[in-house]
Amino acid sequence: VEGAIEVVLLRLTAEGGAVGWGEAAPWVVFTGSPEATLHALHRHIRPHVVGRKLKDRAAIMADAAHAVAHATEAKAALETALLDVTGHAVGLPVHALLGGKCRDEIALSCSIANPDWAADRQLLQRLHADGVRIVKLKTGFKGHAFDLMRLEEIRRDWPQVAIRVDYNQGLQPHEAIARLPEVAAFKPDFIEQPVAAANLTTMARLRARIDVPLLADESVFGPEDLMRAIEAGACDGISVKIMKAGGLMRAQSVARMADRLQFTPAVAEAFVRALEQQSGFRHGEVDMRVAARRAGFPALLFHDPEDRSSPFHNSELIAAEWAGARIVPCPGRGHLRILSTPYVHQQTADFFTARR
Ligand code: MG
Repeated sequence: VEGAIEVVLLRLTAEGGAVGWGEAAPWVVFTGSPEATLHALHRHIRPHVVGRKLKDRAAIMADAAHAVAHATEAKAALETALLDVTGHAVGLPVHALLGGKCRDEIALSCSIANPDWAADRQLLQRLHADGVRIVKLKTGFKGHAFDLMRLEEIRRDWPQVAIRVDYNQGLQPHEAIARLPEVAAFKPDFIEQPVAAANLTTMARLRARIDVPLLADESVFGPEDLMRAIEAGACDGISVKIMKAGGLMRAQSVARMADRLQFTPAVAEAFVRALEQQSGFRHGEVDMRVAARRAGFPALLFHDPEDRSSPFHNSELIAAEWAGARIVPCPGRGHLRILSTPYVHQQTADFFTARR
């Protein structure tokens, strides 16, 4: 993004003299323009800020949200400046205002996006010497052969470097369906936003065709978009950005929602361990068919026939042993989204009501 982004800086001064800075970094093809950001701040948001109290930050942000649609970078700059000036006024770092620090370091991922591959090879050499071990390869702007060639060379010449692939909406659906399996064969950490932001249906189809995680970036700005993406089964993960979400607090709520809806392997493992401790059974030795044979009540089993976490056949085996069990196939709902499916809620309620 070097040379592509003009930033807008916002300075707020509190009555006692404390100063806070906020920054908007709009990218015109992604979020919006610096001109629109400046205009939103100056004309539409300023009247809701000047003269207000610092402790009313949430109310100020709510007013800003209503004062102008979108303009997420302007709102992010406002919130950052409010947090910064509050931090200076009360003598706390901003992370303390956001719930506390989680970590001291994060791994740096650098973008490889130059159409001139020789120049990017030199950049990779420098990054590698500096200890960078993650690259985000920007793809889909100069042909599939160019992308495969770069993947091959990075894997060959920098084998310790983790690769993430980002198409920035660069493919048509038919291109993505043909190309992504070949890209997935290089085992990148994930493939990001291959098709247009609004095309959640194609995202869901692609997800079923590759065995690496599919990420949504342009498809998910705020919590509302995330709900839609989850409903559509469009992605395995999302890219959380302050400029997209419209501030740190909304970015946090997007991250928390995503966190709750997806068990990472480490969380899943801790969950299984806790279950083993409490139940006294080893996870691998529990056979639901034994429990099914002994159950003295009917059951309703919801299962997506295409479930990738747990095969549908497992439910069939259980139902075969369980007197009065019925399977409700839930195509397209995946393993976890079943829990947020309206007809599943309805049938569950009907099931219990009928038994009263
Ligand atoms: Mg991206």
